[in-house]
Amino acid sequence: MRRALHLEPNAHLKQLAEISDTEGSLARTYLSPAHRRAAQQIQQWMRDCGMETWVDAVGNVHGRIKAAHDAQQTVLLGSHYDTVLDGGAYDGALGIIVGLAAVKGMLLGELMQRGTTGRLPEQLESKDGDVVIPPTLASSLLRFGSVHLVAFADEEGVRFGSTFLGSRAVAGTLLKYNMLAAKDRAGASLANVLREEAGVADPWVAAASLALEPGSISEYVEVHIEQGPVLEARGLPLGVVAGIAGQTRLWVTVNGTQGHAGTVPMRGRRDALAAAAEMVTAIESLCLQPEEQGGAPEEENLVCTVGELKVWPGASNVISGSTGFSVDIRSKTDPVRMRVVKEAVRAVEAVCARRGVPCAVDRKHDAEAVLADADVMEAMKAAAEAAESILKTTLTEEELSRHGGLLEGLRKVPVLVSGAGHDAMAIAEAVPRMGMLFVRCRGGVSHSPLEHVEPEDVTTSAAALAGYLWGRVVSGVMGPVRGEQGRDKTEL
Ligand SMILES: [Zn+2]
Repeated sequence: MRRALHLEPNAHLKQLAEISDTEGSLARTYLSPAHRRAAQQIQQWMRDCGMETWVDAVGNVHGRIKAAHDAQQTVLLGSHYDTVLDGGAYDGALGIIVGLAAVKGMLLGELMQRGTTGRLPEQLESKDGDVVIPPTLASSLLRFGSVHLVAFADEEGVRFGSTFLGSRAVAGTLLKYNMLAAKDRAGASLANVLREEAGVADPWVAAASLALEPGSISEYVEVHIEQGPVLEARGLPLGVVAGIAGQTRLWVTVNGTQGHAGTVPMRGRRDALAAAAEMVTAIESLCLQPEEQGGAPEEENLVCTVGELKVWPGASNVISGSTGFSVDIRSKTDPVRMRVVKEAVRAVEAVCARRGVPCAVDRKHDAEAVLADADVMEAMKAAAEAAESILKTTLTEEELSRHGGLLEGLRKVPVLVSGAGHDAMAIAEAVPRMGMLFVRCRGGVSHSPLEHVEPEDVTTSAAALAGYLWGRVVSGVMGPVRGEQGRDKTEL
């Protein structure tokens, strides 16, 4: 168990972080050479877990263990293997590696329980120190359902500027969101990139056939770093997610009149950058407004951010002729987000009108807030609390006592709202039963090389997920895997 739940996942996280397109930093963007190498490596680890594995037309890496018994339903696990530029080793990768470790831990745990010696059968072969489980053995152990893990090819949207490419393909919503038309910086559409770089003959046919069969997945579970400071501040390793904030991304283009910084008088200038600057602070103040002045209450988690600014031509002695900037608005509930998006657009239009500069606002991305399934949340919380017994056989006394005491931390697993978008949002469109487990990360930092999760926390999340999966698909003690929403246990 120590190998499967502690040594392997932590070593694999390091190994995956070294697969990068840049030297000295981590960058793995859609269909880059490192991205392809990472996919191969993940497939190998899936095989070692006893999974059948394949890569689909958009580059998602699938691993599946089909229950040998007559179980119709499948628990889907997932996270993404692309990264932002100069990213960290855990965002996305953690969910894949912990998912794999949990599957292996679940299978080994079952084998140990069945054996009389409490030890692993000796015939299990080991490769480079990793335990390898034969597919037929893996499949024979699943009595109540199948397990399917997807490493999504693109979540961050670095290349095409629109997120959830991989998970939307699996959810069957790629065409709905017109994602094949999305263009990368070189001007190539996703459809063209799939044809030319991935050898997909007809991207539309491929996109339409990628979706999982409706009703075949009973629930989706994703492990992810928290990307926020709450768990660390409270000294707790894990948190259960109640929902994911909705998000809108806009791109504002301001067109001014380009001119010489020295010769064009101040009055009468149409300075695109100065106009944009005014808009940026107006948008910031919308989200800073206190509740008593009509702002959103704090529990709404309303946030507005302008994180990207493009100034043309971008020279110190030229008045900007054109400036573009991104706007990112998120909130726990959709009506609040919608209202603020409208107000932000109005604020932009007001500045444009007053300064006499033409503006355009493009709506780049909209994602509705998504609630986690209450039953999945409850079962996940129970599994996290019960991880104690697994951890005691996996970690040393000294490791257990680190970070304020891991076992104490599992006695109060908190419920959090995610401000960041996750693949779970896209999958929730096709699989209504969704749940997420957050793992503490140092300083709440993500999208940075400083991103860090303690090795013991990696193991704690793997133990919790292993227990969860075991209860769902091996022993059935957490209730049978359910079918479509509303179908109750007795009907199965
Ligand atoms: Zn992520």
